[in-house]
Amino acid sequence: MVGKQLDIFFQTHFTQLEALNNKSKCSSFKCNYCGDQPDSWGQSIEHCENQLANHIVSTTECPNAPPAVHSAAHLLMKGKKPEASESSESVDTSSASQHPLPAKKHKIQSNLDSLVDCPMTEVQQNVTNRKLFKLIIHANLPFSVVDNIFLHDFTDELQPSFNVASCFTMTQTFLDSENSCVHLEMVDELASMQCTATILVDGWEDIMHHSVYGVAAAHVGKPSIILGLHNLTGHRGKAQKILNVTESCMANMGIVDASCALATVTDNSNVMKRFQTDFEKLHPWVIVSLDLSLFPPLSQYNCCGSHFWGGILKEAAKITGVLHSFKLNCGSQWYAVILLALSVEAH
Ligand SMILES: [Zn+2]
Repeated sequence: MVGKQLDIFFQTHFTQLEALNNKSKCSSFKCNYCGDQPDSWGQSIEHCENQLANHIVSTTECPNAPPAVHSAAHLLMKGKKPEASESSESVDTSSASQHPLPAKKHKIQSNLDSLVDCPMTEVQQNVTNRKLFKLIIHANLPFSVVDNIFLHDFTDELQPSFNVASCFTMTQTFLDSENSCVHLEMVDELASMQCTATILVDGWEDIMHHSVYGVAAAHVGKPSIILGLHNLTGHRGKAQKILNVTESCMANMGIVDASCALATVTDNSNVMKRFQTDFEKLHPWVIVSLDLSLFPPLSQYNCCGSHFWGGILKEAAKITGVLHSFKLNCGSQWYAVILLALSVEAH
C-alpha cells in the first residue's frame, strides 16, 4: 500500500508496476516467477486483500514459484491473524489447572472439582462416544474421522481424559450396538401402532440398475419406519416375490399378521395391483385397493400410472420455478428409501 513499508516477502517475489490510477490507490505488482509469461495471472496483480500472497499460495495460479516460496506465502498468510497463534500457544501451554472460565464465575468454590480435570468413567466415555457416533452418521462423515488429529485436539481441549473411540470400535461395536438400539425402539413403536399404520411398498432401480424394493410403515404425525430394503434383481415383476419380501420385512420387525397395518399403499403398476390382491387375501382387513389418483383432491394431477406424488411435485416445481428433476436411478439403495420415508413425513 502507498506510504507503508512493503513487506520483504513482496519485495523479494514481486516487481512493482506503476501505481493504479483508481480510488483504491493500490499499486499493482508483477510476479517474478510467472509475470512475463503470456496469459499468466501474475502479469499484474493489485496489492490489496492478500491478493499477492494468495497468488503465490496457489500452485495453480503460480506454478513456477519454488515450493519454499509457496511455504513462505502460507507462513505470511498464517501471520495475518496473530490472535490465532496466541490462542494456539495457549492450547499448548494450558494445563487443567489454568482454565480461566471457572475463575470468572464469582462462585464460592467448595472444592477443586471445577478446576481440575476429573477423569471420565467408562460409562461417560461410552455415552460420549455414542453421541459422537450419531454425529458421524447424521453428518454423513466417514468413520475414519475419529482418527483426525483435529478432532483429538478439540476433545483434548474440552475434556483431556476423554478417549475418542477408534475407527474399528466405531464401525464394529458402536454401529452394531446402535443398530440394535434403533431396531428395538422401532419394534416397540410398531407394536404400539395397533392397526393405524400405512405400509408403503415401492420399487426402484439404483445406479447399477439393481431392482430394489423398500417397505416402510408410515403413521400420521410420526416419522416413517423403514421395515426393510431388498434387492430383487432377477425377480423383477413377480408379485409373489414382492409379497414374500413384504411379509419377511414385517416379520423381521416383529409384526405378526400385519397387526400394525391399517392400509397398504403401492403405485399402480400391474405387478403392484397383483401384489395388492395377494396381500388382501392374506390380511383381509387391510385397505389395499387404494387408487389414490381417484381420491378427489388428487384427481387433478396426472399420475402417469405410477408415483402420484411426482405429479404434485411437478406442479409445485412449476410454481416455484425449480428446474431440477429427480434422477431416474438413485445412487444409493438406502438413499431412495430414506427419500421415500421423508416424503411421507413432508406431506
Ligand atoms: Zn506467479
